Amino acid sequence: MTGIRPLVAGNWKMNGLGSSLAELASLRNRLEAAPVPETDIMVCPPATLLSRAREIVDGSSIMIGAQDCHPLPSGAHTGDISAEMLADAGATAVIVGHSERRTDHGESDTLVQAKALAAYRAGLMAIVCIGETEAHYRDGKTLDILRTQLEGSVPEGARATNTVIAYEPVWAIGSGLTPTPQEVAQVHGLIRTVLGQMLGDAEAGGTRILYGGSVKPSNAAELLFVPEVNGALVGGASLKAVDFYEILSVYAGTRS
Ligand code: PEP
Repeated sequence: MTGIRPLVAGNWKMNGLGSSLAELASLRNRLEAAPVPETDIMVCPPATLLSRAREIVDGSSIMIGAQDCHPLPSGAHTGDISAEMLADAGATAVIVGHSERRTDHGESDTLVQAKALAAYRAGLMAIVCIGETEAHYRDGKTLDILRTQLEGSVPEGARATNTVIAYEPVWAIGSGLTPTPQEVAQVHGLIRTVLGQMLGDAEAGGTRILYGGSVKPSNAAELLFVPEVNGALVGGASLKAVDFYEILSVYAGTRS
């Protein structure tokens, strides 16, 4: 093990009504009955559920994250939500640059970087997502693409304490496909090397690099124990407490 405390974050995406918070309560109960030690655990519900989710997890080990933010603190931006508003609603982190936002909303690396800076400004941790498309993967361009995304999306002021990188191959998200453990190890090693060049080895060495893309109970151990993998960003399998808990529990009892 690297000595880095892992983080497993569940991204509910545009899923969840008030009734879905029963799953969060169930996760809390499971963790109280059988804790997963030395692991940071986070759930990122849609913005509409942030405050209610925060009330449910208060006093537990579960943190609440958000899925996106606007770069500015306030202003005439109808429908947008600032990092300050997310913090006010109870979030302690925010995902920025998820591939669905890069695709659906045309978000550039520059915008993602501005959102990460907004997260820092509001006292939130930024979970910066990067990942190659299937075409990039097929053409052997993965490492080049990731370097470009890291250099463009991660701010200069990034620290191990305020930034997490989530490597999510676009072709693996929601598809049931995953890279091999060897590919994940190679990519995560490259990400840490690039972070070292950008932020210095001390910060890079402590920064959590999560794997994301079709993580589920049946493959979690295989993916999470790959060298240089410090946790996971989990989409679909985070919606059910039983599945998310099973993923988390790969960390139970494995570290001194
Ligand atoms: C995600 O979108 O962040 C993700 C990892 O999704 P899934 O686990 O469903 O592939």
